[in-house]
Amino acid sequence: MSSLIRRDPRIERIARNRLHPLHQSLVGGSTEQRGPTGLLRKDPRAGYFMGPNGLKRKDRTGNNAPGAARLQRGASGATASEPLLPLHKVESPAHFIVCVLDMVGGRLTSHDKDVLGQAHLLAKSASSEAAVVAVVFGDHREEGFDKAGVDRLIHFNGDDTLSYQGYCPELKLAALQSVESALSPLYWLFPDSIHGGTDLGCRLSARIGERPANHAWQVDKDNTVCRGGSDRIDIRRNTPRLILLAEECAMPIDETRHEVLSLEIELITQAESRIQDLGAVDVDPSQIPLAEAEFILSAGNGVRDWDQFHEVATSLGATEGASRVAVDDGFMPRFRQVGATGTWVTARVYIAVGISGAIQHLQGIGQCEKVVAINTDPGCDMVKRADLTVIGRSQDILGELLQLYKARQTGSSTLSQTKEPDSVSNQEKQDKEARCVA
Ligand SMILES: Cc1cc2nc3c(=O)[nH]c(=O)nc-3n(C[C@H](O)[C@H](O)[C@H](O)COP(=O)(O)OP(=O)(O)OC[C@H]3O[C@@H](n4cnc5c(N)ncnc54)[C@H](O)[C@@H]3O)c2cc1C
Repeated sequence: MSSLIRRDPRIERIARNRLHPLHQSLVGGSTEQRGPTGLLRKDPRAGYFMGPNGLKRKDRTGNNAPGAARLQRGASGATASEPLLPLHKVESPAHFIVCVLDMVGGRLTSHDKDVLGQAHLLAKSASSEAAVVAVVFGDHREEGFDKAGVDRLIHFNGDDTLSYQGYCPELKLAALQSVESALSPLYWLFPDSIHGGTDLGCRLSARIGERPANHAWQVDKDNTVCRGGSDRIDIRRNTPRLILLAEECAMPIDETRHEVLSLEIELITQAESRIQDLGAVDVDPSQIPLAEAEFILSAGNGVRDWDQFHEVATSLGATEGASRVAVDDGFMPRFRQVGATGTWVTARVYIAVGISGAIQHLQGIGQCEKVVAINTDPGCDMVKRADLTVIGRSQDILGELLQLYKARQTGSSTLSQTKEPDSVSNQEKQDKEARCVA
């Protein structure tokens, strides 16, 4: 195996192109990240290393950036392995700080990670050793509990008779009551969120008769500062035992690994659920605020047929967005503008139709998971940013999309005529499938 340093022109190209989606993972180095609310969060630890005499030194070489090893890999092609973080152990905890996590989609959210970060701050200030306990309900797909700071994990997975899937606050509350009597936690922490944290936290507070701190964003063992008055005023109070935490209340854990030891809790009360969860309902995508939309079809100066654009958005079930030029020209309302002076969006899929990718627009879509560009110019910045690009005239591409959607719909209605009994569910399934394929 040769130790010669080999150059990978593709990786070097990505490292030079700051608009490429993999750019950050290669060069690292950025100490600033934009949080979900648009606030810049600075990581004071990034860019430093511990010198031989224990002093913190600034790293000016760039060799410790996450992607540096990949830029210089040898003939074996092996990438440098991820550095092993030190293991934080809590041998015999005297206290427990319990975090009830949202786990949206079965994974830790950034809000959950902030809550775990806050739990460790409180654990450090506790009089004796404290363990951070995460409570998770139902199935999950998370593999990073150790790096997020979970010392102990309580997983209520249910069984044939008891299911924690969907909306079942009474069952979850009964489980939390069992945790309360088994561990008598030093603190109960919940994300103050619409994903269940606020609801469950308020229910537990009423059940155990303790007043919670809501929307807390600065917490230490003595005082808690909460946002109030529509986020205009701060309310300072003594830190209670039950805290509903705002987003970005603390930095997530990133310097240690944790044990994630399983804790078994026996249910002391069997709650009967009087709420029936009928599942998620379809909403009108045009009513979803841009900042919360998961799927956005966005129009720029390259859109020629506006009726066609609106029809496609309705068919695909997408929320409409726009570039500033489309708004200034009067084709779209001001509240649809995406970008630095519009809305910062966090969609899972963002389709940019005829948008060049000016820096002000790209700033607004920095948090989007997948970007699709439809454009006539293969060299434009939006194409560089995109994960998938379709080069062509917007009117042609959108026309094709519509045809595909209609063909699927016709196919599904033919199917529904032949299969009478579950025609409704089939139709719905086909519609959804057509949207996904489109
Ligand atoms: C202070 C300031 C703040 C700003 N804030 C924002 C902001 O928040 N949001 C924002 O969006 N902009 C903002 N802008 C404006 C920004 O700089 C750009 O001018 C704007 O984003 C360009 O919009 P566009 O991409 O739709 O138009 P253009 O730049 O004109 O690009 C049109 C694109 O469409 C393509 N095209 C042309 N014809 C077709 C076709 N038939 N089919 C497919 N593609 C086609 C072209 O190749 C081109 O890439 C701001 C500017 C300033 C100075």
